[in-house]
Amino acid sequence: MPHNLLGQSADELRALLAQMGEPAYRGAQVYHALYAERRFDFAAMSNLPAALRERLYRETRISLPQIVKRYQSSDGTIRYLLVLDSDVRASLAAPQPAKKPTTIETVFMPEEKRQTICISTQVGCAVDCHFCLTATLGLIRNLTAGEIVGQVLVALEENRAALKPQTNVVLMGQGEPLLNYDAVLAALRILLDANGVALSPKHVTLSTSGIVPGIERLATEKVRPKLAVSLNAASDEQRDAIMPINKKYPLEKLLDACRHYPLRPWEKLTFEYVLLGGFNDTPEDARRVVKLLANVRCKVNLIPWNPGELPYAPPDAARIEAFRCILAEKGFPVFVRYSRGQDIMAACGQLALLESASIHPAAHNSI
Ligand code: SF4
Repeated sequence: MPHNLLGQSADELRALLAQMGEPAYRGAQVYHALYAERRFDFAAMSNLPAALRERLYRETRISLPQIVKRYQSSDGTIRYLLVLDSDVRASLAAPQPAKKPTTIETVFMPEEKRQTICISTQVGCAVDCHFCLTATLGLIRNLTAGEIVGQVLVALEENRAALKPQTNVVLMGQGEPLLNYDAVLAALRILLDANGVALSPKHVTLSTSGIVPGIERLATEKVRPKLAVSLNAASDEQRDAIMPINKKYPLEKLLDACRHYPLRPWEKLTFEYVLLGGFNDTPEDARRVVKLLANVRCKVNLIPWNPGELPYAPPDAARIEAFRCILAEKGFPVFVRYSRGQDIMAACGQLALLESASIHPAAHNSI
């Protein structure tokens, strides 16, 4: 199969073009056309000589994830069901019965002055958080850097006419980003590169369930996004019950890694806390959270549980407010975040739709 250029770094594209007998700067031109200008057709790369465009067309390819369904929420959120290129090709090439293509999900949330794109880093997830539907899939496979960057490019391109000046990207879709470290970092370098997709590190957030070695490794990176940690409990006993990963990386180790995480002057760690009614939403829980997060420069997002297929209750409004007040009184910036797109299963913890996806996008536009 021809070489897919999507996901290649500037250095890799320069090396590839040099290998083809072209000046290396042609690689930088392809890089810019692909990620900064979002030109996915060699014919549209008008800064390249016609003979080179022709040769790139013959010898390489640019393969984006393909949209097979769009679910539009009443709040403007759009959930895309995407089929991965390699699987499309495999299913096209396979003898009957064709292999069911693998799908992932990407969520686009428009706001007044910006848009936020929530992307996946794995198909399914092995971490097994008990409040998350993705966990029910298990890990199917890691995404490549191209498939991760491709989700952002597809969502931007789909909404090109209505884009606001600021784009936020959150790595909070399917998968644990720090368990697909190399591909995620390769994608982030392209997303955060001024000559690439050119997002600001202030607007890109990686969310982890608390993979301590991954946090420690991320701390050493020159280019890195903001970091969010999915806390969700105020004691090891409680966290063990909903996040088995806590047995491997208990709260003391996790908080120690957080305290040593080298924050930039403008930066705070984010702790996400899904409030599960009757489980982790009492004032005592809030006071334990205050103690746990002492000496960490952070903010806290409280996420009331989304009613769904899993056996938890949404917290009541008084409990949410009491929890928020206890943290706020102790000086924590604390926000209650109601998930968007609940009516289309696009909210936090709801991304788990693996369904038979047609490879003909137009036939499945559900808007
Ligand atoms: S919450 Fe995140 S880390 Fe936990 S199972 Fe779901 S996708 Fe995986």
